[in-house]
Order: sequence, then structure tokens, then C-alpha cells
Amino acid sequence: MADNRIFNFSAGPSMLPVPVLERAASEMLNYKGSGMSVMEMSHRSKVYDAVIKDAEAALRRVMNIPENYTVLFLQGGATTQFAAIPMNLMKTGKADYAVTGNFANNAYKEAVKFGDIHVAYSSKETNFDHVPAQNELDLNADADYFYICANNTIYGTEYSYDPETPENVPLVADMSSNILSKPVDVSKYGVIYAGAQKNMGPAGLTVVIVRDDLLGSYPKEKYPAMLDWKLMADKESMYNTPPTYAIYVLGLVLEWVESLGGLTEMARRAEEKSSLLYDYLDSTDFYQAVAAKDSRSRMNVTFRTGNDELDAKFAKESAAAGMSNLKGHRSVGGMRASIYNAMPLEGVQTLIDFMKKFEAANK
Ligand SMILES: *Cc1c(COP(=O)(O)O)cnc(C)c1O
Repeated sequence: MADNRIFNFSAGPSMLPVPVLERAASEMLNYKGSGMSVMEMSHRSKVYDAVIKDAEAALRRVMNIPENYTVLFLQGGATTQFAAIPMNLMKTGKADYAVTGNFANNAYKEAVKFGDIHVAYSSKETNFDHVPAQNELDLNADADYFYICANNTIYGTEYSYDPETPENVPLVADMSSNILSKPVDVSKYGVIYAGAQKNMGPAGLTVVIVRDDLLGSYPKEKYPAMLDWKLMADKESMYNTPPTYAIYVLGLVLEWVESLGGLTEMARRAEEKSSLLYDYLDSTDFYQAVAAKDSRSRMNVTFRTGNDELDAKFAKESAAAGMSNLKGHRSVGGMRASIYNAMPLEGVQTLIDFMKKFEAANK
């Protein structure tokens, strides 16, 4: 690891692979003989055209995205898409939402402004400590879409299956915090979207992958041009200036993922790292895992000691030991270790060693 870097367990923006940062640094002043940084070049230049086209081609290869899906590179974060989704997908004005955490709930609250939204499942009563099983979902056959948050970043829960929907009801998934962490059968989804800053690159870029037949019912005379997926698709994400540098870094991240063996290898690593942590949590009474066992996230591992003062001490002492951002989100408390693709196995081993020492000193 590069000198003076620490293990950054931030939920997002989060760690990027060192080879990606090194490559971006080496190309900073003069990108491929252009005499300028990618940050400084026109988005309509020939040299940048190759950057964005290559990033899209790499994403299509890595995620095995079928031909009949459009890839959009947008701005405004995942949160802007909370509104864009109902705006683009509402036809009858009905949709189903599984409310499994803060971000799913924020998406639900936006959707309510646009239609008749039915809660297909909520885990609010148990402070969002689990995701539903398929047979717990209350789905309507006449909904315009069914919405899920695939990985609940704050609570540390994740779907381990692709929910089935009634015929002709597209599945829409917020994959902000687990995209690129495992192979996904894109054809099972109508829309997959993600803010880039967890597992794809820097903040400022939002990737939307949408099945082509879902484009085109946007009420463009009423709603802003910027949120119209069809317009963005027709303009190849260049209706206005796209987040040029973030798209370039996404391209580098995808190259890194491919060089290691693609999403199968990312899944193997995620399984290895998260199992190490959960196995340790299950082996001691000192810490408790927050998420229900069958819903545990491979990306965000939430745990606590059961004592708020000890939890605060943990956050403080782990930072002094070279690990940052282990304090849990305020709505859950305790600790959260976000271990996306770029977190090396060594980081998780360092965390577990620290947890053992902390337990011995505070038991
Ligand atoms: C971080 C996150 C968001 C919010 O993303 P922004 O880019 O900040 O709008 C939404 N959903 C999930 C699952 C997230 O992890």
C-alpha cells in the first residue's frame, strides 16, 4: 500500500483502488498526449469521446449488460433518481416499494409526490434490521414498477436474491452500495442505478441502466429536461456537460476490476472479507452483529458492543490505530465497517486484530 494511507472504512465516498489513484495521478497533467488533464478537456472533444465510450463499453462487458439496455451517466446522485424514477416510469400512477431503510424510505417519500404508492414490505418496526423474503412481498400486478434498495448502506442489510415480480412489472433497484460486487443478471431488472461514490468511483456520477422499452413515457412538457432518461439516452448522456472526470475514473476502476477477474472475483473477495468479520462477530459475546443473519450485507458490516460509551471509545481508538470512519450511522449507533471492492483483505484482518485487542482491554 502507498505510504501513509490508512484503512478507510467510510460508507461513501469510500476507498478507491491504489492502482487506480496512481494511474489517475500519472495521467493528471497530460492525458495520452493531449497536453491537458481529463478535467480540463471539452466533453465534446475526440479524446474525451473515447474516454466516455470506453467507460460505457467496459461497464457493459463487466456487468454483461444486454443490448436492449441503455447506460446513462448522470449527475445529482442517487437521491435525484428517487424522483426521476417515478417521473420516468409512472404510466398508471401506481408503484410498489419495499421500505428497508433510510434510502428506500427517501425514495418512497419522493415517489408519493407522483402517484399512488403501495408499501409492499417495511422492516421499520425492527429498525430495518432485515430485508424481506420473496413470500413476504405484497406485490400488485397492476403496478408500474416494484422498487427495492438492493443493499441498505446504513443498516448493513442486503438482498441475496433477485425478487420476482408479477408479469410485466419491472424491478427497479438502487444498487448504490453493492453494484460491481457480484455478477447480476441485468435482464431480471427494468432499471438498475447507483451513485458512483461507493463502489464505482468518485462522487458526482450516477449510473442508470434502463431497459429500452421503459424509455419514452416521460411527461416532457411538465417535467424538467434534465431528469428525462429518454432525452439523456438520445443525447448519449451529453445533453449538458456530464461529470467528465468521474466517468474517466469509473473507466479506470472497471479496468482494475477486469484485470482481477471481473465480478466473479469481486464476489469471492466480498464473501471472504465479510465472512471473516461475521464469523468473528458470531464467535464473541462482546460484540453483536446488528443485521439479521439471513440479511447480512457483504458491503456494510454493522455491529455494536451494547454500551454507547464503549462504542464511542471504539471509534476513537480505532482511528488512532489507523482505521477511519468506523463509527456507525446515527440512526443505528454502534459501528459500521464498509468493505467495498477497494478495501483489501489486510484491512479487514487489521480491523479484526484491533477488535480482539479492544475486547480484551474492555471486557
Ligand atoms: C449513498 C446512497 C444513496 C445516496 O446517494 P447520493 O449519491 O448521496 O444521492 C442512495 N442509496 C444508497 C443505497 C446509498 O448507499
